Amino acid sequence: MTDALDTLRQEVRLWLEGNAPQDWRDHCTTEEAFVDLQRSWFATLAKGGYAVPHWPAGWPGGGRGLAEQKVIYEEFARADTPRLLLSFMSTYHAASTLFEWGSEAQRQYYIPRILDGEIWCQGFSEPNAGSDLASLKTRAERQGDVYIVNGQKLWSTMGQFADKCLLLVRTSSEGAKQAGLTYLLLDLKAKGVTVRPIHQIHGDEEFAEVFLDNVEIPVTDRLGKEGQGWAVAQSTLSSERGLTLLELSARMRGALWRIGDLIRANGRDNDSGILRDFGRLATKVDAACAVADQFLANRIAGEERVGDASIVKLSYSRTLRGFTSLGLRIGGMDTQYHDPITFGGGMETGNWMADFMNSYAWTIAGGSDEVQRNIIAERLLGMPREPKSWTLKEAVA
Ligand SMILES: Cc1cc2nc3c(=O)[nH]c(=O)nc-3n(C[C@H](O)[C@H](O)[C@H](O)COP(=O)(O)OP(=O)(O)OC[C@H]3O[C@@H](n4cnc5c(N)ncnc54)[C@H](O)[C@@H]3O)c2cc1C
Repeated sequence: MTDALDTLRQEVRLWLEGNAPQDWRDHCTTEEAFVDLQRSWFATLAKGGYAVPHWPAGWPGGGRGLAEQKVIYEEFARADTPRLLLSFMSTYHAASTLFEWGSEAQRQYYIPRILDGEIWCQGFSEPNAGSDLASLKTRAERQGDVYIVNGQKLWSTMGQFADKCLLLVRTSSEGAKQAGLTYLLLDLKAKGVTVRPIHQIHGDEEFAEVFLDNVEIPVTDRLGKEGQGWAVAQSTLSSERGLTLLELSARMRGALWRIGDLIRANGRDNDSGILRDFGRLATKVDAACAVADQFLANRIAGEERVGDASIVKLSYSRTLRGFTSLGLRIGGMDTQYHDPITFGGGMETGNWMADFMNSYAWTIAGGSDEVQRNIIAERLLGMPREPKSWTLKEAVA
């Protein structure tokens, strides 16, 4: 640890002592309280300069190196601050796609609004287009200066609270499925948009479905060219599968003390089996952090390969499952129930049953584990492509 990083750690720690919300989990038991807390904590972080340390230099709040970002995220976890679930897509997915594909005018317009608290969601998945995303059917037809959009999106995380949506649509049915896609920025307040929250089995509503009925989107709100949507979407997915994982992994490392505390509180600190499992977990958490670090270093050096982000995501989702299941195991009876209102929580909150259940969401969100393995095998390792169903039928016949 260098002196500069030590100094930064002290600075962040001191700032958190005066600014981190206290007892937020006790108060954050309704949807309104969750939204209020998330908005006010984001505004406090933005004011303090800690909301978007991962943004490039030259943008307010950005320009922190990887090592500095890690220190900041570890201190957030240590101070037990809420994770920014509501603005996560805005500050990561939307911002990184805008930085990479936005015109100067689009960046200058949208990026400051994100820092002002505008909420974005992601509208990629559809009822029959999840893993096979290129099959999506939401249609956009150009009429002069606008696109007229019709269709349905599904599983848009936090969509019911969002102002804007990263929207992937079909503008052509000619040629390869991917070649007909276009990337638009949708104002969710526009005429013809209906957003409906999805009630989940555990009692929360973290997603929404979005219905689009003759919605007009100005051509100036297109990212990249018409037909280039697949390439633009890869940028969003790379953020989802790779970039965000620096924060999540660093926060997981910063939150290891929760398990340490639980071991002590439940009198298990002489249990060699538990201590061994804790040691193994700590090693895996360190390894997940190292994988995320390497990914980001490659990305910054312009050496990111297709499939690298999939390795980061797989490594994080598997480690997270180990983390939450150990907490659940040590926690005894107290951890065996699930309080339906987990808003304001996250994946490393110490609300172990909710965290454990949520850890499985990571095996699907942003592309399932099976699909990540396919990408690694085919695109990174150059192994033979999986047979399409018609090839299988022919082979069987
Ligand atoms: C917590 C969470 C948050 C999400 N947030 C968003 C969001 O904000 N915006 C958004 O657009 N979407 C979001 N999604 C949707 C997510 O991207 C899709 O659920 C995911 O891509 C899988 O698609 P599917 O649900 O249609 O399942 P399917 O594609 O129908 O897959 C079903 C099963 O088949 C397996 N499978 C499919 N194809 C293959 C294959 N070729 N080889 C091997 N196995 C295969 C899958 O791994 C899976 O186990 C979210 C999902 C979750 C769980």
